[in-house]
Amino acid sequence: MDLWGDVVELAEKYDVAIIGAGVIGLFTAYLLLEKRLSVVVVEKNSRPGQEASTRNANVIHVVQTPFNSLKSRLCIEGNILHKRYSEIIGYRLEPLDTLLVTRGMKGAVIGRIAYWLLKRYRNWGFKVEKLSRQKIREVEPLISRDVDYAVLVGGYGIVDSRELVDKLEKTARSLGASFMYNNEVDRVEVDRSSRIRLGTKQGGEILAKYVVNSAGLYADRVAGLFGDKYSIKPVKGVMALYRDIRVENIIASAIVAGRKKTKGGGIIPQLDGRVLLGPTYEEASSRSDYYYTRESLRALEEKFRPLLRDDMGEPVEVVVGLRATTSWRDYIIEYSRAVGPRVVHLVGIESPGLTAAPAIAEKVVYMLLGDT
Ligand SMILES: Cc1cc2nc3c(=O)[nH]c(=O)nc-3n(C[C@H](O)[C@H](O)[C@H](O)COP(=O)(O)OP(=O)(O)OC[C@H]3O[C@@H](n4cnc5c(N)ncnc54)[C@H](O)[C@@H]3O)c2cc1C
Repeated sequence: MDLWGDVVELAEKYDVAIIGAGVIGLFTAYLLLEKRLSVVVVEKNSRPGQEASTRNANVIHVVQTPFNSLKSRLCIEGNILHKRYSEIIGYRLEPLDTLLVTRGMKGAVIGRIAYWLLKRYRNWGFKVEKLSRQKIREVEPLISRDVDYAVLVGGYGIVDSRELVDKLEKTARSLGASFMYNNEVDRVEVDRSSRIRLGTKQGGEILAKYVVNSAGLYADRVAGLFGDKYSIKPVKGVMALYRDIRVENIIASAIVAGRKKTKGGGIIPQLDGRVLLGPTYEEASSRSDYYYTRESLRALEEKFRPLLRDDMGEPVEVVVGLRATTSWRDYIIEYSRAVGPRVVHLVGIESPGLTAAPAIAEKVVYMLLGDT
């Protein structure tokens, strides 16, 4: 496909410029290259995926609440697409189940409600099973004796997001993508012929027919360069990695209530044999607040320690990620109001963005090119 014809210009020109080399920008680049478009990915860091795309829990989810949200639909689609793309692109994807566990009488009531709710969505293709006390221990021998109710939800997966990002970048490169690292987009001009000129702080100049804003935490600022208004609030997630525990499944508490800081999260086996606890859910003071406190680690331990029989030992690594949340609390995937359908903004791509990434990318390609 040649979208440029005979236009003469000194700046590098591309069919599509993608701002941000996270998992969303890279999947989008890959799918556009498959359509034989020329693609440049502009990234302010020196490598791909230095932000949320490698500072996450590595889980490929099956569904997301609220069930009727855009993020839930793209999560379900993304879960299926990862199976296909992991084979084509060559990143590891290990299947695993989640045990939604509870303790005590109150817990059992909540567990039964969770089971009933999930059963209603079983036709989305994942297994939901209520486990007896004995079966819980067969499935997960290291679970605490206090856990007396569990719902098993099948269809989850685990990836190594660093491997996924690197393989995607390599594949996109082999298909002809250009990458401009250490280049932060800080200027946008749209001329009358609808060409879009992007300028970077470091002096880079690009001309593109289409632009995809997949700038993660900064997608609101990038949208602002086009004249569009959004507001992102970073929310911190602290995750602790342990070497001395072994679990076969993701273990999550069905009781979501409790301290806001520890809402959600789980005990999550990783591909490298370590086990991740978390993430927490904490206010971040800025978009570069990657700091954690002892209190965050203590909160994780207090929440998850009672679910296991053995001692967890000390964490061997702590990873902090920042979620790009908006007050809308769902994904915003739309054309620029100021510029029109040549620019697509992706705003508020928080969890499960790693799962939804291939489905988001397919949606963006469709928005730009239709059914070509
Ligand atoms: C703690 C935590 C745990 C999570 N766990 C999971 C999970 O287990 N499963 C799941 O499915 N999802 C999870 N997520 C969500 C998932 O990680 C994100 O939704 C996903 O990585 C978002 O990808 P992205 O490409 O939009 O953003 P990013 O990875 O942040 O990429 C955006 C890129 O844009 C670049 N950029 C920004 N501004 C500019 C500019 N002006 N010019 C050039 N480049 C720019 C940035 O440097 C960055 O590299 C988690 C997130 C967090 C924070």
